[in-house]
Amino acid sequence: MPQYCFVPGCKNKKGGHLFPKDIHLRQQWCVAVRRIDPLTGRLWTPGAIDRVCSQHFLETDFKTTMTGMNVYIIMSAVII
Ligand SMILES: [Zn+2]
Repeated sequence: MPQYCFVPGCKNKKGGHLFPKDIHLRQQWCVAVRRIDPLTGRLWTPGAIDRVCSQHFLETDFKTTMTGMNVYIIMSAVII
């Protein structure tokens, strides 16, 4: 089964970024995505394999580390 993007309404199945392990950053993503759990009416808690595709990020959301790896710091654009 292909894994869809976590953002509601987005049907992108191509790759994406896993939610960050940092709890504050993770919360920031959840708020930006605004996906609501219909059972609780609260923000959905993403699972280990939930991901957000690249189209919801801006280039400025990324910070390149000294090792050349991209680290995403914020999610400033959410397309629904
Ligand atoms: Zn998406």
